[in-house]
Amino acid sequence: MEIRKGIPVSPGIAIAEAVVLDSKDWRIPRRAILPSQRDAEVQRVHQAFTDALKTLDTIEDRQTVDARSIKDIFAVHRRFLQDSSLRRRITQYITDELVTAEYAVSTILRDVAMHFASFKDRYIRERAADIYDIQRRLLEQLVGRVTAEVEHLEREVVVIAHDLTPTQTASFNKTYVRGFATDAGGRTSHTAIVARSLGIPAVVALEDITSHVTTESTVIIDGNRGVVVVDPDEATIQEYRDYAERLHRFETRLVALRDEPAVTRDGVHLTLLGNIEFPEEAALVKERGGEGIGLYRTEFLYLYGGTEPTEEDHYHAYAQAVQAFPDRPVVIRTMDLGADKVPSTQRPYREPNPVLGLRSIRYCLHHLSLFKTQLRAILRASVLGDVHIMFPLITNLQELRQARMILRDVMEDLDEEAVSYNPSMPVGIMVETPSAALTASMLAMHCDFFSIGTNDLIQYTLAVDRANEYVSSLYSFADPAVLGLLRHVIHDANKAKIGLTVCGEIASEPEYIMLLLGMGVRTLSLAPPMLPEVKQIVRSVTIEDCNDVARRVTAMEAQRQIKNFVRAAAAKILPEAF
Ligand code: PEP
Ligand code: MG
Repeated sequence: MEIRKGIPVSPGIAIAEAVVLDSKDWRIPRRAILPSQRDAEVQRVHQAFTDALKTLDTIEDRQTVDARSIKDIFAVHRRFLQDSSLRRRITQYITDELVTAEYAVSTILRDVAMHFASFKDRYIRERAADIYDIQRRLLEQLVGRVTAEVEHLEREVVVIAHDLTPTQTASFNKTYVRGFATDAGGRTSHTAIVARSLGIPAVVALEDITSHVTTESTVIIDGNRGVVVVDPDEATIQEYRDYAERLHRFETRLVALRDEPAVTRDGVHLTLLGNIEFPEEAALVKERGGEGIGLYRTEFLYLYGGTEPTEEDHYHAYAQAVQAFPDRPVVIRTMDLGADKVPSTQRPYREPNPVLGLRSIRYCLHHLSLFKTQLRAILRASVLGDVHIMFPLITNLQELRQARMILRDVMEDLDEEAVSYNPSMPVGIMVETPSAALTASMLAMHCDFFSIGTNDLIQYTLAVDRANEYVSSLYSFADPAVLGLLRHVIHDANKAKIGLTVCGEIASEPEYIMLLLGMGVRTLSLAPPMLPEVKQIVRSVTIEDCNDVARRVTAMEAQRQIKNFVRAAAAKILPEAF
C-alpha cells in the first residue's frame, strides 16, 4: 500500500481498478506489471508493430510527392518495423523486467537510437532520428489504443495520467470513470474545473503518480483531502467506504436545502448561480438549488466534437440552458479559447507563452467570423429569457469598445434580416486581469456588470501559472495583492451601481465564503455540485461575523496567516466541510 498527497480539485471518494494513460508526448514512466500480465503486454507490442506498419502503408499510399528521399525514409521505417530482432529485444525486456509495453518500447528504442547516434559515419548517425520516429509511431499505437478504450469503457475505473486536457476530461463517461489522478495540474486548471462540474473526484499535482500505479491495481482517490492510495489493504478500503458513506449522508442533508433561500442569519439575501460548461448542466444547477447561470463557458462547444459549431449549434445550446431558467439570469460568456483550450478544429498557434498570448477576447477579435457567428446566436437566444452576454479577459477599454462595436454590427445585421433579439441585453465583462481591476472605474462606465474571475486574476497578479504543479504553493487567493485588487473592483462596481458577481473557483471554496461576504460580495457563481454546501454556509453566518472576518484580514500581511484565519472561522460554522 502506498499513500500519496496532491492537490484535491474535485470532491468525493472513488475506489476502483486503475487504467493508466500514458502520453506519447511525455516521458513514459517505468511501471511494473504482474507476471500474469506478461503475455498480454507482449501481445500488445506485436499488435503495435503490425498496426504501425499498416499506418505506414496508408501514409505512403497517400503520398503525392514521388521524391526519392521520401521513399527512402519509408523504406528505412518499414525495415525497422519488420525487424524481428528489434521486436525480440523489446518483448524480452518485458519478460525479464516485468514492465509495460510502453516503457519497453520507449527504453529499447531510445537505447538503439543512442547507439546509432554514437557512430562516426554520418549516414548511420542520422538513422537515430528514424528510430525516434518509429518509437513515436509505436507509442501512438499503444497509447492511442488505451485512450480509445477509456472512451468506450464498460466497467468502473479510475484514470491515472500524466495530464489530461479539458476536452479529454469532458469526454469521460461518468458512469464508468469514477475518478482521476494526474502528475500535473493545478487547483483551477480547466481540467480541474471540468472534473468539479461533472462531479468526478480528482486529485492533481501528484508529480509522479503514473510511475507508481499499474493498470488493474486498486486505487482510492480522495478528492476531499487530496490523497491517493495505491494498492490499499482491506482495512483502508473499509475505512474509505465508511468515510464515503458519511460524506454521502452530509450531502443528502445539504441537498434538502435546495428550495430554501440563500439568506444569512441576519436576513441578508445572496444570489447563488451556477457555472456550466455544457447546456445539460443547467438542469443540475437547478437541482442543486442554484438560481440561474452566472457563467456559461461556451468554448466547450468548440472543444468537443470534430467540427466547428454552426450558428444553429450555438443557438440550440443556449436555448437549452435558458429553458432551465426562463425567468432567471443566464450569463453567456463568449468563447474563452486559447491557452489550454485549443479547439479541435484549429491547428494550435505556436506561442511561447500561450497564457499571455492569443486567448479569450483577443482570439475572438482575431477570428471575427467565428465571433460574429456566436454573437448572432446569443442575440437570437436573448428573446427566450433573461440572457446576459459577457466578454472574457478584457484588459483595456479599447478591447471592450471593439467587442461592443462588433456586437452592434451584428445587431444591425439582424435588424436588416428582421430577426428579433433583445436590444437591451445586459453586457458585462470578466474582471480577471490586474489591468482590468485597476481600471475598473473606467470600464464600469461602459458595461452593465462585472464578474470577477479569480482563477485568472490570481494567475496574472501573482505571475503563477494556474495549471503548473511546481508553483502551486504560490497560487493563493489569500494573497494581500489579490485581496487588494478585489476590494478595489468591488468598490468601483458599487460606486458605478453595476452588477457584481464572483465566478472564479474561490466562490465554491467553503473557507473563503465569509471573507467574500464580508468584502461586500452578494452574488456568487460556482460549480453546481458545490451549491448546497455554500448555501449552508451562507445560512449559518451573520453579515456582522463576515464583516469582522474581512476587517481582521485587512490587517494581516501573510498569505498563510490569512488562509489559516479564514479556515478556522469557517470551520467553526460548518465543521463537516473541513
Ligand atoms: C476565472 O478565470 O476565474 C474564470 C472563471 O474563467 P476560467 O476559469 O474559465 O478561465
Ligand atoms: Mg478566466
